[in-house]
Parts: sequence; C-alpha cells; structure tokens
Amino acid sequence: MAHGRDTLPEGPTEKCGVVGLSLSDRAAARPIYYSLYALQHRGQESAGIVTHDGFQQHSHVDMGLVGDAFSESDLEGLNGTTGIGHVRYPTAGSVDKSCAQPFTVSFKSGSLALSHNGNLVNADEIRDTLAEKGHAFTSDGDTEVIAHDLARNLLEGDLVRAVKATMGRIHGSYSLTIMHDDTVLGLRDPEGNRPLCLGKLEDGYVLASESAAIDTLGGELVRDVRPGELVLLDSDGSGYDSFQLVQQENTARCFFEHVYFARPDSRIDGTLVYQARRTLGRKLWEESGVDSDVVMPVPDSGRAFASGYAEAAQDDGADVEFAEGLMKNRYVGRTFIMPTQDERERAVRLKLNPIRSTIEGRSVTIIDDSIVRGTTSRQLVSLLRDAGADEVHVRIGAPPIIAPCYMGIDMATREELIASNRSVEDIRDEIGADSLSYLSIDAVAEALSSTRADLCLGCVTGQYPYDIDDEETDRPVERPLVTDSAPADD
Ligand code: SF4
Repeated sequence: MAHGRDTLPEGPTEKCGVVGLSLSDRAAARPIYYSLYALQHRGQESAGIVTHDGFQQHSHVDMGLVGDAFSESDLEGLNGTTGIGHVRYPTAGSVDKSCAQPFTVSFKSGSLALSHNGNLVNADEIRDTLAEKGHAFTSDGDTEVIAHDLARNLLEGDLVRAVKATMGRIHGSYSLTIMHDDTVLGLRDPEGNRPLCLGKLEDGYVLASESAAIDTLGGELVRDVRPGELVLLDSDGSGYDSFQLVQQENTARCFFEHVYFARPDSRIDGTLVYQARRTLGRKLWEESGVDSDVVMPVPDSGRAFASGYAEAAQDDGADVEFAEGLMKNRYVGRTFIMPTQDERERAVRLKLNPIRSTIEGRSVTIIDDSIVRGTTSRQLVSLLRDAGADEVHVRIGAPPIIAPCYMGIDMATREELIASNRSVEDIRDEIGADSLSYLSIDAVAEALSSTRADLCLGCVTGQYPYDIDDEETDRPVERPLVTDSAPADD
C-alpha cells in the first residue's frame, strides 16, 4: 500500500501492536509504556495510551516512537489502574494524528477506547450505514468504525451482547484491546488472523499482541486468546472471564507472523517464533539444500533460518561452515528516506558490509525470510560477488509472495512484487544468483504444526480467507450483510 512518502520499507511491514492492562492497585500507564516498547517493532509511526481512573478517561497519543511520544509528565497524567495502549504503522486511514490510536469516543452511557491490529474489509459499508444514522466520523480509519458500531450497540445491550453484535457486522482481521469505562477487554477475530495473548502479573492481568510484552513486565503467559473469543479483565486485576462468541471450523492465522513480523522470543499460538524459524530453515535444507562452503544469514531477518539450515546440513554430513559474513549497520532504521531509485539501489551498502575473508574464493549460500520487490536480493548478490564469492546461492524460508495483503500488512502492490508474474528461474536470473529456492507452503504449515486450511496464505496463493473485492477466496466465506439490526438476543 502506498502512503505517499519517500520511504522504502525493506520488506513487509507490520501495522500495529496492542496492549491492555488491569491492575489491582498500581497505575497502569507505566507498565503499558514498557510493553509498548516491547512491541515497537510492530509500529513506529505513532504510540498512545488511554487509562481510566474509575471516573474518567485519560489519554495521550502522539506521533513517533514510544520513547519520543511520552514524557515523564505525560505518563504521570495518565491516572488509573486500567488502560490500553497501541503502537501503529498506518493501515486503513491516512498518516496523521487523527488516525493514531487508541481511538476514544464518549457516548450516552460511558466511554470507549480501542486499539486495533488488523484491517476490516467492509469498514466503508458500515461507516455509510452509521453515517446515515447520524454518526459523525473524524477519521477515515476502520477503528473508528468499530468504535461507533460498538457504542451504538452498547446503548441497546450489555457489553458482551454489544461486542457480539459488532462482531456479526465487521468482516476482516482484528485483534483488539478495548476499554469500556474502566473495564478492559481483548477480542480476536473468528479466524485468529492476528495474534493476541493473555498474561498474568503479580497484581493483575495483561493482554498483548505478543508474549514478549508480558515477559517485559515480569509476567507469565497464560495462553493465546482464542479465535472468536472475548476476554474480559476484572477491573480490580483479580481475574478474567472468557466468552467464546464465535466458533469456526477453521482459522486463518497469518503465517507471516512466524516467518517475519513477530519477535523471535515471542510465543504465538503455542509456538516459539525463534524455534519456528529454525524449523523452517531445516525444512529449507531438506527441500532444496545446495552444496556450498559457507552458509550465512541476511542479518537480522535470516539468522534463525540460516542456523536451522546449516545445522540440518551438518547433520546430513555436509562440510559447510555457518558464519556471519554480512555486518549490519544498526543505526540505519527499518526505512530509509531515499527519494530516487538510484539512491535506493545503493541503500544496501549503507546497511550491510561484507566480511571479505569469509566470502572470497568460496561458494556462499545466503538465507533470508522473504523476497518482496527483489531490489535488496539483487544488491546483496552483487555485494557478495564484489567481495569475491565464487558462487552465490539464495535460499528463502517462505514461499514466493505473489499477491498483496489486505489484512493489515504493508506488502507492496502486485506490480511491485517480483514474484507476482515471474517464475523462480526468472527471479533467479533477475537477482543474478547461481541458484534460488523458496520453501513450499506444505513445509510452512508443517513447521507451524498447522494445516493449509487453518492458515492465511493469501499473499502466497492469491486466495484469501476473507471476502475481498475483486479477489478469490480460499474457503466458503461471505461478507456479513450490514443491516441496521439491534444486538442479537443470544
Ligand atoms: S495475506 Fe499474508 S501477510 Fe497478510 S495476513 Fe495473510 S499470510 Fe499474513
């Protein structure tokens, strides 16, 4: 998705991280702030915290990284023992403060705040029906649509019924932390597309996109929030209630969370991300191992894949060294400002420097997690050849990305994706490698202890688990009819 900026994301970009916290007797703001730091990789555009002190909401949302968005006095002003937080890279909606989150709304029977990770595919339809009913919208984001729909349903039913009614109307991917007055809840879409987990602290409970945030607070992971489940935290931090609002036969978990987005030290849907990446690397060797003198990761994304690949090769008796042959300049961020194509072409040299003694006169296999546009891979191969490599083989720990993501990941357009209309051999030729192989979809499903039917594979098959305009689906699925109905009775 283009955002009208002169920046070039290196690869797919995660859009958001969410947190929710309920404590017995301690201000929630600071632990939320620390957990947002733990989720900073999920969004660097804006950060926000909303708390509730039993009487009113307190909110601070600003553009930039977590460390820049909050001052000491901002945190001190966020009173209350319950709250939610958000880090954001824009999905639906424009890049400005009006779309930064948590999104807040006050209505007749109380206040709401929402943090959303994901992307609705029918937000415009719902916005139109609500606008006809007199709801005024301040942003073009889909989170505001959920907030208004929920506020409307809360006028007619209790919290659980209202959430269920909203779930019946929204279609798309969402992991949400919501605060209704001083009650914090977590909600995961029926397909479980984006992650959300529940943790226990000494004096309360926490909901977060990834378990690394719970670790940061010294807490314990209780479990993942189940697809279609609403978890309601007691506002005194003493416990939680669970409501399985929707149950579907199959899930559609984003496999890219394990491959790329999530922190390696997070555990998602029962699998440690680091371990999943190592297993993917092992499978890569099993499927397409190639003889070479040295295996090296593209830092940092390819590291766990490469160690799994090299270990499997050595287990098979291959005489291959595992080495770091590319050193990363850590002070170049995830995106660089590079207005011209020529500058983009040279960007890799700003970011990576080869260690000539590891590479010169040797055949080299480099391992990465994905190829998006192909620009970086082409630059890397030429960097290694310039450093004296005899042969350069490229192995990728995921299937080719052939289609965009509509579920909240900035994956580039079909036109920009190098694999959307090229064979693997054509891509190999274009990046200048001696050989190129990707991992199969079945190997990915196996490594995640899942099946094709329970994963979202939209970006690698072009078939999606949601009903998206002008795209094919991979299962029988239809957008809900957006009617003007009141909350359901059951
Ligand atoms: S299309 Fe790809 S990146 Fe998007 S949710 Fe599905 S698996 Fe994840």
